[in-house]
Amino acid sequence: MIVAERKTISELVEILRPHRNILVLGCGTCVTVCLSGGEREVSIISSALRIASRVQGLDFTISELTIERQCDNIFIEQAAEAIEKADAVLSTACGAGVQAIAERFPSKPVYAGLNTTFLGILEERGVWTEKCAACGSCVLHKYGGICPVTRCAKRLLNGPCGGSREDRCEVRPDRPCAWQLIYRRLRDIGQLERLMEMEPPKNWNSSLSGGPRVLVREDHRV
Ligand code: SF4
Ligand code: SF4
Repeated sequence: MIVAERKTISELVEILRPHRNILVLGCGTCVTVCLSGGEREVSIISSALRIASRVQGLDFTISELTIERQCDNIFIEQAAEAIEKADAVLSTACGAGVQAIAERFPSKPVYAGLNTTFLGILEERGVWTEKCAACGSCVLHKYGGICPVTRCAKRLLNGPCGGSREDRCEVRPDRPCAWQLIYRRLRDIGQLERLMEMEPPKNWNSSLSGGPRVLVREDHRV
């Protein structure tokens, strides 16, 4: 899922300061699961903005709405009336959702309420970890399902850097060395011979390094 965290209330107040009638628009998918932008968080942010407005004399009028997905026009239409009525929208979707709303309503100020952080999973209660950088050319099958692009701090594709200590990453001692994980996983699934294969330099054209990406599925076009 896409993982994000909320901007601070003081940041949001500064962003919204020029406006009066503000819609806080939540998204019911990834950001709900990662507890940053769903209905509950919309309610918390709205309450905090109302309090800040009263304390700072800002005269905000805050309304709240959460739709299932802000990155999908079918669901965006459900918010159209509320968006039209507002002076500005504070979106608590990921960056894609915020931009989808801004594109659909070109004359409406739309602001991001969250910092979109990474593609990851819930590792334990209250802890999310990055698992994929959406590089566009997945190599997981070569590394026992452990992503060296995302989980090795140096993005090494041909073995460890040699700096790990007690299975901890040299760069991030709070995280396990990805190559320790890759070795264990390949051992456990009987594929250690993969470590003998040399991986050529990765072609980053399919990643964001090659510029903004578009995925076209001709079989789905009309
Ligand atoms: S290799 Fe690329 S697509 Fe596959 S998990 Fe890693 S970053 Fe994501
Ligand atoms: S210690 Fe392991 S995870 Fe960290 S940079 Fe070196 S090889 Fe990568």
